Amino acid sequence: MTRADRVAGRLPEHELDYLLVTDLVNVRYMTGFTGTNGLALVGRNTRRLLTDFRYVERARSEVSDFDVLPAPQELRSALAVGWPRRNLRVGFEDQSLSVRRHAELRETLPKRVELVAAGGLVEAERAVKEPAEVATIRAAAALVDEVYALLLERGLVGRTEREVAQSLERELRVRGAAGTSFDSIVAAGENGALPHATPRDVPIPEGTLVTLDFGARLDGYCSDCTRTWATGALPDDLEMIYETVLRAQKAALDAVRPGPEGREIDAIARKVITAAGHGDHFGHGLGHGVGMDIHEAPRLARTAEARLEAGNVVTVEPGIYLPGRGGVRIEDLVVVTEDGRDVLSSTSKALTVVG
Ligand code: ZN
Ligand code: ZN
Repeated sequence: MTRADRVAGRLPEHELDYLLVTDLVNVRYMTGFTGTNGLALVGRNTRRLLTDFRYVERARSEVSDFDVLPAPQELRSALAVGWPRRNLRVGFEDQSLSVRRHAELRETLPKRVELVAAGGLVEAERAVKEPAEVATIRAAAALVDEVYALLLERGLVGRTEREVAQSLERELRVRGAAGTSFDSIVAAGENGALPHATPRDVPIPEGTLVTLDFGARLDGYCSDCTRTWATGALPDDLEMIYETVLRAQKAALDAVRPGPEGREIDAIARKVITAAGHGDHFGHGLGHGVGMDIHEAPRLARTAEARLEAGNVVTVEPGIYLPGRGGVRIEDLVVVTEDGRDVLSSTSKALTVVG
């Protein structure tokens, strides 16, 4: 079964005749098309990719199991005709289609076509990775491990956060990455107390914690890994939170396997951190799915009810953030396997002192 076949297999339970896929990442996942203007229509026996003249040749070489149809640049006018002559329910991706594009579509489609909010169908397929996808994510994770090794060798003290961020991004590209999966985080001292810190133009001092969080984009897939390193001997409170986050991270990681709900894994880490008195200093979810997008299904969070299944790729990244002092986050990327897990991040998690 192709990916599109599996998506089509989800239509009956939503009483849909077709799914209109407008999210370009979803279009790429289903069809292989990498252009930046296209939409796909999937029905029981329909596999149609619309794109404009700029991308028709590319689409014909990249896409095999869809009919590639040239369309005007705005694409939607090609949807005015060609529908079966009966009332139809057509799902659209309400998580990403703008209100404006929805109104334009409504105007274009024949009256007998009902537009039905149906986001998440392709995402549900994307959440379970095929072996080839896992291999690509594993390679993207390995690039990050190589760059961590290099950072350790070069040191951090005296360099600015911004310069370290720029250099690690350069090193990822040198090793074959198309770029980063998200804006890299290099956050020392009090800046590390912000989970989404922006690298600053200030030199990294001795005797503090530095949070490094970055990922590589490779062949359309992402990786994601965080390590928090010490730049010398640490004050007791920072050393304590490091030890707590590490325990929480390992406990949650050990529980990753098919079966538990995302919130159960989240609760394992949260319990360790809360018991140490830092429940209020762990304000984000434990982790997220990673694939073609850096944040995708499934989530590991307080409200995540989806059960983990083999083929999911998720992060496990608890943190403790002490305002004005510093923060610790430790993040591994992990594949859920039939009988447990396979951790893709291999950089050491023991408290690492870097000069
Ligand atoms: Zn991360
Ligand atoms: Zn992450």
